[in-house]
Amino acid sequence: MSENSCDIIISGAGPNGLMLACELALAGVTPIVLERTPGPSTEQKANGLVGSVVRAMDMRGLYPDTPPQPVPAYLFSAMTLNFADLHDNPMCMWPIPQPVLTRLLADRAATLGVEVRWGHTLTDITQDTGQVTATVAGPTGGHTLTAAYLVAADGGKSLVRKRSGIGFPGFTAPDRISRLGHATVPAALRTPDGGLDIPGAGHFRFGHNRVERGLFVFAELQPGRAIVATVEHGAGPVDEDTPMTLDELRDSVTRVLGAELPMLPLPPDLNPVLRRVVGQNTRLADRYRDGRVLLLGDAAHVHSAMGGPGLNLGLQDALNLGWKLAAEVRGHAPAGLLDTYESERRPVAERVMMQTLAQSALVAPGPEITALRKLFGELLDLPGVTGHIARLLAGSDTRYDTGCAHPLAGHLAPDLTVGTPARPLLLDPTGTDPAAAWSGRVDTLRVTDVPAILLIRPDGYIAWAATELDIEGLHAALTRWFGPAHRLSAAG
Ligand SMILES: Cc1cc2nc3c(=O)[nH]c(=O)nc-3n(C[C@H](O)[C@H](O)[C@H](O)COP(=O)(O)OP(=O)(O)OC[C@H]3O[C@@H](n4cnc5c(N)ncnc54)[C@H](O)[C@@H]3O)c2cc1C
Repeated sequence: MSENSCDIIISGAGPNGLMLACELALAGVTPIVLERTPGPSTEQKANGLVGSVVRAMDMRGLYPDTPPQPVPAYLFSAMTLNFADLHDNPMCMWPIPQPVLTRLLADRAATLGVEVRWGHTLTDITQDTGQVTATVAGPTGGHTLTAAYLVAADGGKSLVRKRSGIGFPGFTAPDRISRLGHATVPAALRTPDGGLDIPGAGHFRFGHNRVERGLFVFAELQPGRAIVATVEHGAGPVDEDTPMTLDELRDSVTRVLGAELPMLPLPPDLNPVLRRVVGQNTRLADRYRDGRVLLLGDAAHVHSAMGGPGLNLGLQDALNLGWKLAAEVRGHAPAGLLDTYESERRPVAERVMMQTLAQSALVAPGPEITALRKLFGELLDLPGVTGHIARLLAGSDTRYDTGCAHPLAGHLAPDLTVGTPARPLLLDPTGTDPAAAWSGRVDTLRVTDVPAILLIRPDGYIAWAATELDIEGLHAALTRWFGPAHRLSAAG
């Protein structure tokens, strides 16, 4: 490979692009990542990771306090979900701010030998049957870079998605204005539950609070840096070219709560956020692939940040795509493997669209929504409902169609102390080495304390499971996911 060609180009070194770069490198293919910013982004967006992705990050050795522990409660549309009685609570949380995560992944990518070309903007792409060509504007001028595949991890406004003619249908709630700022809030107003007592307005808990005139959010995740946010419906027009100010946020809080919340600005060196978003987009790419171009993360899906599902979705897109794309480039991918990226991940994104739209609807103002929330609150008391919503929010209800009927197949593998595999792994209690003909591509570990014979994909999902060794079934699964055997297995 020369300076102007490589196997895979990734456009965008946000968390999802960097995660994919690490996955590819672990699978033996080193991509080039193009990123327009001069270094890892310090933009404060996500406050952390929630759901199955925390277990996936732990699986890759990236989570610090292994094993992840689930949280005792969470919010769904500003309603408390209490997990005290929930068996197998899937809601793990890792409160890692997005700039820290981005830096962590950039460091991991560098350690794995990935070249990130900071300060390089992708300005155009073309493709033919043999390769894809990116036009790049770098610090020393323009040039082209060719590759077998290009992955667009360039965010919700993805240039690559637009240039590839991939549609981005969905819904925009035009009458909704969200405002968010970092500020200092007087200690005297704090309550032991992490919320606030605001004179003239009442008590507001940590996180989302729905009131008749909108949504109010308060969360102090880092000492001295309170996040204060509002969502207003049908509010008057704003000049979107005017920069957002703390006064604008203060006025919005007063409108929503009917009382003033005293707030002081943070010093500029703390990089405080002041953000206004007019209209809420919920959009999903109509396909994830156009020939040699694939979409990843926000380039493929955007939705409300309520409940923090974005990186649970995007980072698991990267885990799903990495090993498949690496197998394709290395020439041992079975036919159709790469297309399972879209067939597996797009339905997961559809469920995130569904639950974030539902949450947005349930915090809207008005007596009808108040009644709906009351009914919803009653439903939450019924057996099984909290667990259903917890699995939906965590994404642990994801089950891929692997063609195997065993109840564990298609699910994320249970927590097992078998290291951090980034390669296919057979957990075999039989000791007969039934995947010997796939050696070099599939690792086999002789274990005794597993619920079944498990064939685990590099993304941690179970490709095949059986309580008794069914050699034909296992070999069919190995061929389906990892290509044909090198030679006839002694066991087969
Ligand atoms: C206020 C807010 C709060 C959020 N809270 C949460 C939360 O708590 N939990 C959660 O999981 N998610 C949250 N999200 C969502 C989360 O931030 C996104 O899902 C995430 O940033 C998507 O990562 P990405 O890598 O796909 O895209 P991005 O983070 O957008 O990264 C795209 C990268 O591509 C680069 N780029 C773009 N165009 C080009 C180009 N032409 N050439 C080269 N480089 C290019 C950009 O500079 C950028 O670095 C929140 C979002 C917001 C706005």
